[in-house]
Amino acid sequence: MTAALDAYWMPFTANRQFKQQPRLLARSSGMHYWTDDGRQILDGVAGLWCVNAGHARPRIVQAIAEQAAELDYAPPFQMAHPKAFELAERVAALAPGDMNKVFFTNSGSESVETALKMALAYHRVRGEGHRTRLIGRERGYHGVNFGGISVGGMVANRKMFGNMLGGVDHLRHTHDPAKNAFSVGQPAHGADLADDLERLCALHDASTIAAVIVEPVAGSTGVLVPPQGYLQRLRELCDKHGILLIFDEVITGFGRTGAPFGAQTFGVTPDLMTVAKGLTNGCVPMGAVIARQHVYDAFMQGPEHLIEFFHGYTYSAHPLACAAGLATLDTYAEEGLLTRASELQGYFAEALHSLRDAPHVIDIRNIGLVGGIELTPRPGAPTQRAFDVFLDAFHKQGVLLRTTGDTIALSPPLIIERTQIDQLVDTIRTALKRVA
Ligand code: PMP
Repeated sequence: MTAALDAYWMPFTANRQFKQQPRLLARSSGMHYWTDDGRQILDGVAGLWCVNAGHARPRIVQAIAEQAAELDYAPPFQMAHPKAFELAERVAALAPGDMNKVFFTNSGSESVETALKMALAYHRVRGEGHRTRLIGRERGYHGVNFGGISVGGMVANRKMFGNMLGGVDHLRHTHDPAKNAFSVGQPAHGADLADDLERLCALHDASTIAAVIVEPVAGSTGVLVPPQGYLQRLRELCDKHGILLIFDEVITGFGRTGAPFGAQTFGVTPDLMTVAKGLTNGCVPMGAVIARQHVYDAFMQGPEHLIEFFHGYTYSAHPLACAAGLATLDTYAEEGLLTRASELQGYFAEALHSLRDAPHVIDIRNIGLVGGIELTPRPGAPTQRAFDVFLDAFHKQGVLLRTTGDTIALSPPLIIERTQIDQLVDTIRTALKRVA
């Protein structure tokens, strides 16, 4: 390990292993990265599910540079700047139904905390302060803060950090390989798993439950596409019991599933939606909570001089992020990127599912331009097989993939061409043979 690599304690990384075999990215453009030693890398995951318009788009770069020179920072409490309003309006216009209020944060994790607090406060301002319980889902990923890891369903968090927030319960996850393996698009079986909510309402009393949070497509825990009818059923049950429905669209937002948001792809409008990543094309950290009109209205009932929602961040609606967001939305609109995944998903699905007979593949899942290829586990080995595929793809084939457990995930920039989809799939096929 060189001294130069020593000080940086890397997030979500096996630091000692990485520092033996580092991967340093030095430059990016369009569909590609270049490593510090000049190798070109095809980006199969949009950085980290975020660079939806491709890398280093000149319009976005220019907008950030100009904004930094014009107005570098503006305090967001009791003050604002014009681009914050403009971006909120543009985001609201993309969201379904009356989801037309936008609260800015700096990350997906912060969006989740904001949405959970908004849900709790919503019930309080309406005189239903007894609704304090939050419902998440097994295998949910909602970022790294305490609310998010509590409603999330990752075992690793419980192993590493012990106690989570109290008053949280979970629905079962929807992954059922026995019934749904190799489903193309939404699996046919599992809508009834939403009835877990009915069971939790009976157990805890529905009047104690504030909100349910789910990812429309669980991304970071293995690309789990919702069974047909599942999200509709959750919506019905939330309506029946006065519970807010939160969609965590940090991955599914901004075109990933073929519409601006997963809510539109799946035809279900939540009460709150958390976004980040693609909002600024990954260029500047930014997230947001998008709320329905009735949520905002509930907060606006009290005296005018009072702060309606006692929450916010120093960098909420940061001018650089707003400038990046506006240029990003312009780019998406001009190039039709928010619906491009719906045009490419047939080709993408076919290419991905051609790996069905490759060594070790036990399931393939896809929707829009997101896919997961699950491999047989290798208990007791130092690394999972999927991680070995990732290493082979990066070091030997010049392709960036992502792995989560035994699943290889793909979520390329939405500007991807068909030949590049082929390259991703061929790379995985080659790597699978080699790691066999
Ligand atoms: N929610 C979901 C659904 C996510 O996928 C992620 C990140 N992958 C987060 C929240 C957390 O976002 P961030 O890393 O920006 O805090």
